[in-house]
Amino acid sequence: MLKGNKLRIYPTKQQCDDLNCMFGNDRFVWNQMLNMLNERYQNNHHAYFPTTYELNYLLKQLKAEYPFLKISDSSSLQVTNDNLVKAFQRFFKKISGKPRFHSRKASKQSYTGKSIITIIGKHYLKVPKLGYVKCSDTSCISGHLIKRYTVSLAPTGKYYLAVNYECENQTFSKTNRQVGIDLNASELATLSDGTHVPSLDTKDLETKLRLAQRKLSRRYQRAKRLIQYDQQYHKDNVRELTDFPNYQKQRHYVAKLHAKITNKRNDYLHKLTTYLVKHFDKIVIEDLKVSNMMKNHHLAHKIASQSWYELRRQLTYKCAWYGKELIVVPARNTSRICSQCGLKNTQFDQLTTNEWLAVRHWTCPHCGAKLDRDVNAAINILNKGLV
Ligand SMILES: [Zn+2]
Repeated sequence: MLKGNKLRIYPTKQQCDDLNCMFGNDRFVWNQMLNMLNERYQNNHHAYFPTTYELNYLLKQLKAEYPFLKISDSSSLQVTNDNLVKAFQRFFKKISGKPRFHSRKASKQSYTGKSIITIIGKHYLKVPKLGYVKCSDTSCISGHLIKRYTVSLAPTGKYYLAVNYECENQTFSKTNRQVGIDLNASELATLSDGTHVPSLDTKDLETKLRLAQRKLSRRYQRAKRLIQYDQQYHKDNVRELTDFPNYQKQRHYVAKLHAKITNKRNDYLHKLTTYLVKHFDKIVIEDLKVSNMMKNHHLAHKIASQSWYELRRQLTYKCAWYGKELIVVPARNTSRICSQCGLKNTQFDQLTTNEWLAVRHWTCPHCGAKLDRDVNAAINILNKGLV
């Protein structure tokens, strides 16, 4: 079983410079190879597409021509080639768009390597080409063979090391219990056993973020105006966005707020999903079209839908890890059917969406059962999944 973990690393000033070069080298190889492949295609539309192995062979010449590539872990450049070939394969199969050139200005920078990382102590690792690096607690990965690693620089300026390693599969003991989960707008989730899981309150942070984003956009507009001015009157000395320290400072602050909200949310979700996987053998959820909801630009909605997406992602892999079953059922009418007698309540058909969302409790007109709207939905979801 392949598992992953993410550690924070604390590179020295010299190592930061090296890492910056390595990120650049990865991008350089990607762009060079992409350019070569594009030209090849333009010259001959029927040219055969090279394999990763053939691209890797070209690395030798590229390294001779550009000696700065030697600073990188060579396996990371091979991974870049591999990713490029895969990106083209997805393009040929019409799954995704044409591979694009990578920009120096991308907010997140990273490279992935396949060489061996040695764990030196509780807070030290040996990373290829980088040497000894201080890091957060390594005890979670000790004793495992690391297959792949990714070093990344987040927009907050923090460095991370994500590792993939193989390990024995440990399963949680069976409990013979099952649960249905209803995801709704008023709270994060409701379980079929009657537990209400409230949404995480991040209102303070959201307000801070909104104000900070407003300030950022003001500073961005100002910087842009000054750049335009330069382009008209000082053609020889045009400033770039990096030359505006106040804009950069604010950008950093906004990134930090974003990271804080994400971390808080993920921590909360991890606790919930681990609880669910530990206590239930079968977990049934609704198939919400999260990707459609994510397009909604309203901040609160965005955060709610991101939570649902993350919840489902965590449940999927944790169920696989710990030997539990996740069942996804189509979302349809689950909150309008009575879980006691199975008949649909038609009284709600005339209500508008807002009126319908305001209904918290209702009584079934067929059997007289008193129902909590969300718990009822969760029970229906569970029943659907057990059929
Ligand atoms: Zn009923």
